[in-house]
Amino acid sequence: MPKSKNSKKKSRSGKNRTPISGHTRVGKQLLPPFAKMEGKVAFSSWTNERMPEMLWAVIVRAIDGQDFAISQFRRIINFIGNHERREELSDLTHTGISKIDPALRAELIACITKHPAIAEALIILRIFNDLPAAADWMVCIPEHAPDIELLMTAVGQNLWHQSQEATDCRWLRLMAQLAAGKLHVPREMAEEWIGYPDVGDQKSVRPSIRASEIAPTSMDPRDTAWADSFWLEAWHNTPCLVLNNEMVAKPAVVPVTRTAISDLIGKLEEHWQGTHSTTSVDARHDSVFGIAFYALRLIDELLGIGVGTGILGRLGLRTLLEAYVSIHYLLHKDDEALWKKWRAYGAGQAKLNALRFDTDMEPPKFINIEWIEQIAGEDIWEEFLNIELGNWSGLDLRKLSEQSGCKDQYDTHYSWTSGYVHGTWGPVREASFTTCGNPLHRMHRYPDQKSLPDTVSDAVDLANRILDDLNAAYPEFLHRIPVQ
Ligand SMILES: [Zn+2]
Repeated sequence: MPKSKNSKKKSRSGKNRTPISGHTRVGKQLLPPFAKMEGKVAFSSWTNERMPEMLWAVIVRAIDGQDFAISQFRRIINFIGNHERREELSDLTHTGISKIDPALRAELIACITKHPAIAEALIILRIFNDLPAAADWMVCIPEHAPDIELLMTAVGQNLWHQSQEATDCRWLRLMAQLAAGKLHVPREMAEEWIGYPDVGDQKSVRPSIRASEIAPTSMDPRDTAWADSFWLEAWHNTPCLVLNNEMVAKPAVVPVTRTAISDLIGKLEEHWQGTHSTTSVDARHDSVFGIAFYALRLIDELLGIGVGTGILGRLGLRTLLEAYVSIHYLLHKDDEALWKKWRAYGAGQAKLNALRFDTDMEPPKFINIEWIEQIAGEDIWEEFLNIELGNWSGLDLRKLSEQSGCKDQYDTHYSWTSGYVHGTWGPVREASFTTCGNPLHRMHRYPDQKSLPDTVSDAVDLANRILDDLNAAYPEFLHRIPVQ
C-alpha cells in the first residue's frame, strides 16, 4: 500500500483502503495499486466457490461457537492422520469427498456426523438436490425438518473470506491436507497451524492459512458444478429479505416549509423593488436577483412530496450548485463586460432554439416559442446576437469554482449528482435496487423504489449561500431559509 500524506487521514468509515491520493493517474483513469497486478493473479473465490465446498464445516462452525467447532475439527483431522489410507482423505470438500472410494467415503462421513449435534445440524443438507455424494450423507443424518436459519447464519458468517469463521473452516481444509501428507510446509508453519488458534502470532498464522488455502491443491482441475448449484438452489429455496437498515425506513427530514419559502420570495421581491433603479437593461441586477429567485423556486419545488428524496431532488441540487458557482464567480470578477457576456450567452441559446423550432422541427410540448423569441430579442436585435456553442465563460464549472474560491462546494456536490444527471450506473443502482439481506443470496440486488436520503438541507445550504452573495452585492438582505 503506497504511503502518502493523505493516506494518514482518518476516514469516517474507519475502512482501511487506498485513498484517492494513493491511486495513479493514467490518462483519464485513476488506477488503484492492485490494478497493476491485473492479469498476473487469478483470484479464486472463497465465497463463490470454496465456501460451498466446505458447507458441512461452515455449518458445524455455526452450531455452538469456535471451541466446539475446533474440537470437532481436530477429532476429524486426527481420524485422517491416524488412518492407514490417510492419503486418500486429504480433500474435505463436498466434491472431494464424493470422489473418495465408496467404503472409505462412508467411513469419513460417519466420522464427521458422529457427534449428534453435527448430524442434527447437517439435516439442512437435505434441501440441496445436487449435493455430491448425497446418499452417503443422508444415511448419517436424521430426517427432521431442516433449520434454514442455521444455514443463513452459517453462510452469513462465511461470506467475508477473512472472518474468524471462514478462517477456521479454511484452517480445517488445510489441516486435512497436512494430516493426509498431501501438503508440505516448513515445520514452524506446520507447528503454528497445528496449535491454531491458540499458539503463535495470530497476525502471522491467519494470513499463512488464508494464503495457503487459496492454492488449488485439491481442486485441480477446477470444478464449480456443486458451488454453482449450491448458490442456485439456495436462491430458489429461500426468500429475499429486507436488511434491517435505518436508512430504508427513515422518513425525510423537512427543515423548512413551503409557506416559509413563499414569505421569503415576497421579501426578496420587495428588496428587488428597493434596489433596482432603471427600466434599462441592468445585467448585474437582473442576474443576481434572477439566480436568487431561481434558487428559491427550486427549493419550493424540492419541498413537494417525495421530490427531495427522489432523483429530481438530486438534479435540483446539481442545478443549485451550478447557479451558486456562476453567481459566485460573476460577483468575484464583478466586471460589467462579464455580466453582459453571461446574459448574451443565454440570449444566444434562446435564439438557437427559436431558429431551430421555427424552421427545422416542431417544438416539443414544454417549449413556449413566444417566450423564447422574446428572450432572444429583448437586449440586442437578433441579427447582431452571436450564438456561443461552448461554455459561456470559456471555463468549465470546476475552474469557475477554483477561481472564485468555492471549490469545496464543487467537490462536495458535483460528482455524484453528475451521475444522476447522466443516468450512469452508480445512481441507477442506488435509485433502482436494494441489497438483499439473505446471506444465501450473496448480497444480490432486488428492484426497490426506495426513498433516497433527503436533498433539501443540502439544497437549502446552497440557496442560502446564493442569498449571502446577493446580500454582498445588494445590501442589505438578511433573510435566509431557516435551517433546523
Ligand atoms: Zn434475495
